[in-house]
Amino acid sequence: MSRIDPHSYADAAQPRVRRLDLDLDVDFDRRILSGEAVLSLDGPGEGPLDLDSKGLLIRGVVTDGGAAVPFELAGEEPILGRRLRLSLPSGTRRVAIRYETSPEAVALQWLEPAQTAGGAHPFLYSQCQAIHARTVIPVPDTPALRVSYRAAVTLPEPLSAVMSAGGAGDRPGPRPFTRTFLFEMPQPIPPYLFALAAGRLAARDLSPRARVHAEPEVVAAAAREFDGVEAMIRTAERLFGPYPWERYDLLVLPPSFPYGGMENPRMTFLTPTVIAGDRSLVDVVAHELAHSWTGNLVTNATMDHFWLNEGATTWAERRILEALHGEEAAVLSWAIGETALTQAFERFGAGSPLTKLRTDLLGVDPDDAFSSIPYEKGSRFFALLERTAGRERFDRFVADYIARFRFTSITSEAFLAFLDERLPGLSASVGAAEWLSGTGMPANAPVFRSARLEELTGLARRFAAGARPDPAAVARWTPSETLVYLQHVPRPLPGAACAELESLFGFLAQGNHELLVEGLTIAAASDWERGFGRIRDVLLTVGRMKYLRPLFKALGGHPRTRALAHEIYAAARPRYHALSRRVVETELAAYPA
Ligand SMILES: [Zn+2]
Repeated sequence: MSRIDPHSYADAAQPRVRRLDLDLDVDFDRRILSGEAVLSLDGPGEGPLDLDSKGLLIRGVVTDGGAAVPFELAGEEPILGRRLRLSLPSGTRRVAIRYETSPEAVALQWLEPAQTAGGAHPFLYSQCQAIHARTVIPVPDTPALRVSYRAAVTLPEPLSAVMSAGGAGDRPGPRPFTRTFLFEMPQPIPPYLFALAAGRLAARDLSPRARVHAEPEVVAAAAREFDGVEAMIRTAERLFGPYPWERYDLLVLPPSFPYGGMENPRMTFLTPTVIAGDRSLVDVVAHELAHSWTGNLVTNATMDHFWLNEGATTWAERRILEALHGEEAAVLSWAIGETALTQAFERFGAGSPLTKLRTDLLGVDPDDAFSSIPYEKGSRFFALLERTAGRERFDRFVADYIARFRFTSITSEAFLAFLDERLPGLSASVGAAEWLSGTGMPANAPVFRSARLEELTGLARRFAAGARPDPAAVARWTPSETLVYLQHVPRPLPGAACAELESLFGFLAQGNHELLVEGLTIAAASDWERGFGRIRDVLLTVGRMKYLRPLFKALGGHPRTRALAHEIYAAARPRYHALSRRVVETELAAYPA
């Protein structure tokens, strides 16, 4: 037996799955997908084939010749789910698995019409990262093994579907009032990048190769917000080479989506909270776009190497921002990241093994290990390599790295070996071993400073001592400048000081969710009653974990806000994604009702 991933039953000694053909029916009433997955092997195989599954009901398995394939579902392992072992007859090239998903599938969120902008139709979306593809499809669910796929997805009219794939048309469904949408994904992807969404959708072209999809009520605002996406793609191409996935489409989801964005290839999934009205939060798009190279093209072999995906991408995101908006904007972005990094170190403790870049997650759920550390510590490691090697040499290295490992999945050790091959001596001179295996932050971490940043943070820190920014100047601040300032304002504050902040920044009426939520965390930590109504609104609609965690944490400081937090969560829980629920319940455990 040769297991290759602590989070998968996939076995490298067994036949290799190369392609999936899915035929799935979306049942909004029962909240399940049902149908068939055909797995094509890379050659005739026989004997055991171990797949991952969680909550799947397996109805039967046959070969393409029609022979029944014996199968066995092992007992449930809490993190991994159930191993599905097929016993392939000699010469098997393809097997068809008839199955259905569970209404509890973690990867699938089924929304009531009331949770959508239109309010008239249900909505479904998937989120397979980290290890949830197995709740949707029986596959070897490890990023070490890539598959291409085709899919036929049947929906009730008038709903439509999108996937992390090319659209291949649609046709009348097998039953009256249904429609079947066809998709083709020729490039091999790790299973966590499998993605599906279905609902009432409209689309607007942003460029010949980019389109935004959203509910009809949202699509115009989304098209305005993201109209610079083609310029962003071109900037990214100058840095990392030609865009490798043909199309770059965006899908704006209803607000319960637990992440800011998910880099599903050809179809980035986005929270609607990035629609600020002034394009100020499209750095999330820069991040997801950069994943087209770092993450989707060159992929972490297992979740122990997640920093390779996120560290490289966060570094790339800031290089795109710098190219588009200048060095000062990039410095502010690094500073905002530093705040997130500091909070993550505080959450785990600086000596925690979860603060390492190269982790050992055997027996650990990757969702519990998720934090800003692979993003922010990882991107600082990349920035250190860039500074030490010099930008020109390091950019050439990154281009070579992407070319060498494209469409493969690699480990931290393979990355270091390639670094030693192309830039000999660099890894030793920066102490790469300590960066990867050590906890906390190495002493030689790069520092990102500017006079503007010092001015903003200095002014914010003196807030409690009475220092106030000039309102006329504040009106000219960029959203990033305002965010840096608010993040550095000490808390809790007296009520009068909260009111002053509100009159300076008007955060209660902010359309920019970063500013809104930062202002509300100050209000929450300060037990400032005027903020409670807005806190309630946000927590009852938005499921983005980045906002839920600090808000619920900030509500833990006073008996009155604690009671408010528990009351809100009781009402919000049914609307949250399973991933969001876990995050909130972890925070609430610190101050039980
Ligand atoms: Zn990312």
